[in-house]
Amino acid sequence: MENVITADIAVIGGGAAGITAAIEAKQTAPSLNVIIAERLDRTGKKILVTGSGRCNLTNRNISGGDYHGSLPFVMDIIKKTKNTEEFFRSLGVLCSADEEGRVYPYSKSAASVLSALRLKLKSLDIPEICGFKADNIDKTKSGYTIKAEDGRIIKCRRIIAACGGYASPANGTDGAALKMFREMGIKTAKICPAVAPLRVDPASVKGLKGVRVHGKVSAVSGDRVLKTEEGEIQFTENSISGICVFDLAYLFSEYEGKLSVKADLMPEYSEKQLSDILKEIKSGRNECTLEEFLNGLFVKNLAVFIMKRTLNLPLTEPVSKLKNKDLSKIAETIKNLSFKITGCSSWQNAQVTAGGIHAGEIDVSLCLKKEKGIYFAGEILDTDGKCGGYNLEWAWSSGMWAGRNCALSLHDLT
Ligand SMILES: Cc1cc2nc3c(=O)[nH]c(=O)nc-3n(C[C@H](O)[C@H](O)[C@H](O)COP(=O)(O)OP(=O)(O)OC[C@H]3O[C@@H](n4cnc5c(N)ncnc54)[C@H](O)[C@@H]3O)c2cc1C
Repeated sequence: MENVITADIAVIGGGAAGITAAIEAKQTAPSLNVIIAERLDRTGKKILVTGSGRCNLTNRNISGGDYHGSLPFVMDIIKKTKNTEEFFRSLGVLCSADEEGRVYPYSKSAASVLSALRLKLKSLDIPEICGFKADNIDKTKSGYTIKAEDGRIIKCRRIIAACGGYASPANGTDGAALKMFREMGIKTAKICPAVAPLRVDPASVKGLKGVRVHGKVSAVSGDRVLKTEEGEIQFTENSISGICVFDLAYLFSEYEGKLSVKADLMPEYSEKQLSDILKEIKSGRNECTLEEFLNGLFVKNLAVFIMKRTLNLPLTEPVSKLKNKDLSKIAETIKNLSFKITGCSSWQNAQVTAGGIHAGEIDVSLCLKKEKGIYFAGEILDTDGKCGGYNLEWAWSSGMWAGRNCALSLHDLT
């Protein structure tokens, strides 16, 4: 094993951002020697699990409001870099989009995306140095020394740090790299799981485990509705999830202890319309038990849950016992099912990290302000997007941007 490796540009982290950074750096300045150092035994492991193995690699409806965090120039970078679908087409990966604008490779296989990226690395002669966990960075006269846990050393002129965050530690991202940069005096924004389930008190969802229902979910703090999303809501024994809930999770960090999620299970109808529908249902179901009253609207466990939440009556009683005011209360519960959020999910269940290298530390080229040879790209930075291709879009675009700017900074010197 070679103990000292030299390079012009060393990319730390062989994920989506690191691979595109390396490709773009080499294409910008082909004479430069670019390498990727990856802590796992191979590059791109996380790419393989994205989009449930299908890789939702971007979205056709991206706007600034889809990203959160301190970075003010996310959309500028996305606009200034190559269009992601065109980039992949140039690698031989044709893409197609679903009706929500979510873009996938035509193969619907994340493996084909990773394979195309790795073929490109090979054709550009960019070595992938695996099993290299960067542990320490020292400044030298001519650049930097990166030390790995196993004693190997990379000597380079520039660094692009694309080491991800904390989400999905099985894929190489346990926050150790962010810790390394914090120890170098670099400021990071508050870290929190994003694109993740939200925890609730198990007693508040008793009986709902496994239930899936379409609805609108709103993140609420006090009287303020912070954000509303629509989609399939899923329940476990201690959490609520589903893509629409994932997209509210980033708010937990700011509103910890003061956040509730309110679900509207029949958003197509007003509360008044729903009360009238319930009156109609009652007239045909007077002989049924209360337990059976809503089973034409919802799956059994949810129907029973709503009745228990609303009424103080044994559900063995007949529907004929319901008064008009009870029907109004049931309608209100269906439209305003509220859960207090007690926590965010574990990093194992989170797809993305909110927080990371703070915007105040970097300039628009994604270079560290106080150390003009270290660039950042991807999830390690303080930006996170919603579910639906937005996070990979940021990884590819910021990778290209950092790669290009980093290469140009050396190209100008040579
Ligand atoms: C289950 C799951 C599904 C997802 N699905 C989607 C989706 O369909 N669409 C979407 O847009 N987003 C999705 N995401 C989010 C998306 O995958 C990430 O935001 C994106 O991959 C981040 O890319 P990155 O290159 O910045 O970081 P990462 O992909 O996390 O790559 C960082 C790399 O750096 C390496 N590394 C870390 N520390 C060191 C070190 N000290 N030394 C050397 N190497 C190091 C890691 O091993 C890793 O390979 C999903 C995430 C998960 C977990």
